[in-house]
Amino acid sequence: MPSSRLAASLLAAGVALLPLAGETRSALAAGFDHGTLTPRQDAILSGVLSETRQLVRESATPVSVFDLDATLFDAGGRHKQIMAEYARSHKDRFPGMLAKVLAWETDRLPYEVSETFDELGIQDPADRKDAKDFWYKRFFSNDYLHYDTPIAGAAAFVKALDRAGSVIVYLTGRNDAQLRSGTLRVLEANGFPVDPAKHALVMNPSKAMRDSAFKGSAAVRTQIEALGKVVALFDNEPGNVNELQRSFPDALTVFLDTNHSPKAPQVDAGIPWIKNFRWSWLTGPLAARPR
Ligand SMILES: [Mg+2]
Repeated sequence: MPSSRLAASLLAAGVALLPLAGETRSALAAGFDHGTLTPRQDAILSGVLSETRQLVRESATPVSVFDLDATLFDAGGRHKQIMAEYARSHKDRFPGMLAKVLAWETDRLPYEVSETFDELGIQDPADRKDAKDFWYKRFFSNDYLHYDTPIAGAAAFVKALDRAGSVIVYLTGRNDAQLRSGTLRVLEANGFPVDPAKHALVMNPSKAMRDSAFKGSAAVRTQIEALGKVVALFDNEPGNVNELQRSFPDALTVFLDTNHSPKAPQVDAGIPWIKNFRWSWLTGPLAARPR
């Protein structure tokens, strides 16, 4: 259980930090913007913003940390674009494929693109390998990142933290040498604050290091703690939130229930779940609340 002032205040307000029945279902059935805003999600996001403002009043430097893929961005658009290109370039072999791909809802796709191959009629092992190679070359390319779309409310929430005086850390398993330029370009194009004098993009320096090992490393902890007081960390991978919770026990680690790898562990108890970044200060009856 996180020991932060924020977690304590959420619990005192009656915000259960455990998933509720029905909220543990796969994101494939949930979508990233289809769930209505729950009071609990609202309390968690509003609480992060309130704690950020309180730290600024105390002359501390608040920090919030965000993963990118399936946390701030839905990478389904990238899958869809790449498989549409595959379908167009293989239309003689797979004549019905393009229509199926164009009908995809990007936030309902499985985590692994190969899980779509049966639906698309890609059955032969040689075809499956060819399609996976085609996909791989493009998915991890700066030229395709702009097909991602922000998760609902994400840009507004991160901008609100920026305006409140928070340092924003984008902590991603994307490879540094390969994807830094495109990542910065797409963050900026979607309205996320990227001023290098205030914020940081922390990327995996090694293709060999697992995402959770990188994010849970002492080097990452030291780098982030040097920036200020960590308020909250957001990630969609159970293995990552569990590591982050252990690395930053005084902060609030939040699990994004969007999409994650198929063999992931359970999310540790005490880590709250949210569906996206919609919160009522932006969109609801509390929008006019004084700041
Ligand atoms: Mg992710």
